[in-house]
Amino acid sequence: MIRLIILGAPGSGKGSQCKWITRDYDVPHISTGDILRKNIADGTELGMKAKSFMDQGCLVPDELIIDLLKARLEEADCKEKGFLLDGFPRTISQAEALNEFLQAAGANIDKVINLHVPDEEIMSRALNRRTCTNGECKEIYNLRDNPPKVEGVCDKCGSPLFQRDDDNEETVSNRLNVYHNQTEPLIEYYTSKGVLATIVGQEDINDTIALVKAELAK
Ligand code: AMP
Repeated sequence: MIRLIILGAPGSGKGSQCKWITRDYDVPHISTGDILRKNIADGTELGMKAKSFMDQGCLVPDELIIDLLKARLEEADCKEKGFLLDGFPRTISQAEALNEFLQAAGANIDKVINLHVPDEEIMSRALNRRTCTNGECKEIYNLRDNPPKVEGVCDKCGSPLFQRDDDNEETVSNRLNVYHNQTEPLIEYYTSKGVLATIVGQEDINDTIALVKAELAK
């Protein structure tokens, strides 16, 4: 049982770290962005409400996201194994809601990994990012550093790759501003709780993985 949060600007590589953490620690990976995108794909009311905020790179209002997250944490897998939160919390009020929820259950966050990557690098990565459309696979490619063998096709499962609607220059720059203004205060919040560790994202993803591994093993 482990309860983790991965914090970092959109495009800092949280998703790639989550892939191995969820496997090695056998912990559910909860990405609020993925949940919202699934709601959009399924045409749910929540998805329709969330889409315009997401397309502009703005945060979805707290009241939509907090209940959604709490409902997910009530599911059996999280109760048994804990969780790895990716993309939540993104505001102090989300962090406080999570804190209250956990306290009521007598639980705590074990560690917050803060993945630090400079803005210019994030912009370049986002514009080159492609993701597998297969929800079971979700493999992530980068046309610059880690392109698929065949253009537009996933090496692992052969499904088509796609570029997220929100991975364009204007939206990414807006997302970075939103991150600095609304999410970065969480670094201070979790530092004061004594659970935050900052990892500087390296050029080679395997080097970043090694640093996160060492931190989680502490
Ligand atoms: P992500 O995949 O985590 O980058 O999320 C994509 C988009 O979903 C964000 O730009 C927000 O519009 C929305 N979103 C995801 N998680 C949250 C959250 N915890 N609070 C508010 N909006 C969110």
